[in-house]
Amino acid sequence: MDYTLPEEIVEMKSATRDLVRNYLIPMESQVDKAGAVPEEAMNRLKELGYYGITIPEEYGGMGLNQLAYCSIMLELAQAHQAFTHELGVANGIGSRALMAFGNEKQKQQYLPRIASGEIVTAFALSEPQAGSDAANIQTSAVRTQGGWLLNGNKLFITNALNADLFTVIAVNDREKKGRGGMVAFLVERNTPGFQVAQILETMGSKPYVYGELVFEDCFVADETVLGQVGEGFRVAMHTLDEGRLHVAASACGVARRLLEMSVEWSKNRQAFGRPIADNQGIQWMLSDSATELYAAEQMLFNACWRHDRGERVSKEASMCKLFASEMVGRVADRAVQVHGGMGYMRELAVERMYRDVRVMRIYEGTSEIQRIIIARELLKGNI
Ligand SMILES: Cc1cc2nc3c(=O)[nH]c(=O)nc-3n(C[C@H](O)[C@H](O)[C@H](O)COP(=O)(O)OP(=O)(O)OC[C@H]3O[C@@H](n4cnc5c(N)ncnc54)[C@H](O)[C@@H]3O)c2cc1C
Repeated sequence: MDYTLPEEIVEMKSATRDLVRNYLIPMESQVDKAGAVPEEAMNRLKELGYYGITIPEEYGGMGLNQLAYCSIMLELAQAHQAFTHELGVANGIGSRALMAFGNEKQKQQYLPRIASGEIVTAFALSEPQAGSDAANIQTSAVRTQGGWLLNGNKLFITNALNADLFTVIAVNDREKKGRGGMVAFLVERNTPGFQVAQILETMGSKPYVYGELVFEDCFVADETVLGQVGEGFRVAMHTLDEGRLHVAASACGVARRLLEMSVEWSKNRQAFGRPIADNQGIQWMLSDSATELYAAEQMLFNACWRHDRGERVSKEASMCKLFASEMVGRVADRAVQVHGGMGYMRELAVERMYRDVRVMRIYEGTSEIQRIIIARELLKGNI
């Protein structure tokens, strides 16, 4: 195993660290107060190419592999998640299906604009009655002349309000469902019969935008079908597989910043006439967080490396997502504890990060669903 990064990636990682420390983090309180990300920051991230890290060079991206992307995300994710939200989807669930299943015309049409940040993407699988049980989605795709009519609702969709292009999974054969009865479509925002019905408030930071999509006799042409008719579920599962490594990378990035903040705070905060870091009770919390973070990062590097060698890492990606998302929850909890009363105050980023990391155990497959995927692989003999 060799996780050595090429020189140019090491340089990009270092430049990303500087950007995060010197530019994005100082802007965070402004983001929290305004409930919006300054356009200037988003433009800078676009100009620097961060929206197209995983998109192939021939389509205007950087074409980096998973190990390189996740290494960059370990840095980027240390900033307020509002900055990385759109670019995370652009490099992940918003473009994976198009990259893997799109035809040349579809790729030429959209990928360069996704890579430059000109258009924002979203992935629409979940529905009011089908989240974990994704094979049970109800949004229908019925054949009509020259295309399809979509009817149904999609819930909790990231970037719903501002996305220009949605990868939508619908059922065309209710008997077959996930076994050959679904279709994936590329649906543009202004398509008649498609609208964003409501924006959902969350326990996370304000700039996040999630919403419900409604399709009412929404006509989409045959050219919008991604891959083959019938393989929509496969498209969705492929998209989520790689997304799980990305969630794990974000979790590790956030955990690293929380750990650094906790170490710093414990050295400076005095109680009983000495730094709280002098107490073993505090030291153990720091040690446990550091140990778990190290384990999560090593799992991630290994899974990425194997993925980039062409191995199937479905089980490992689930393990990474499961472990890292639960790890960052524990690290955030300890960080609040180390910060004492101040850890509970809006004034410090710890409070926000504690709330924001909670969803990592839910989206792109809950912890329970990851365990089901892992167990299924084990029982098939993939031990
Ligand atoms: C902030 C946010 C952003 C999201 N973004 C997107 C997006 O962009 N696109 C998209 O398509 N979806 C998105 N989702 C949806 C997300 O993927 C689902 O919320 C998730 O898959 C869980 O589905 P559910 O909410 O319906 O929960 P349910 O499926 O109702 O599950 C409820 C609970 O039951 C557990 N459970 C269910 N089945 C089992 C089982 N067999 N064994 C044990 N436990 C089980 C679950 O783990 C969970 O704890 C997002 C969700 C959130 C919260």
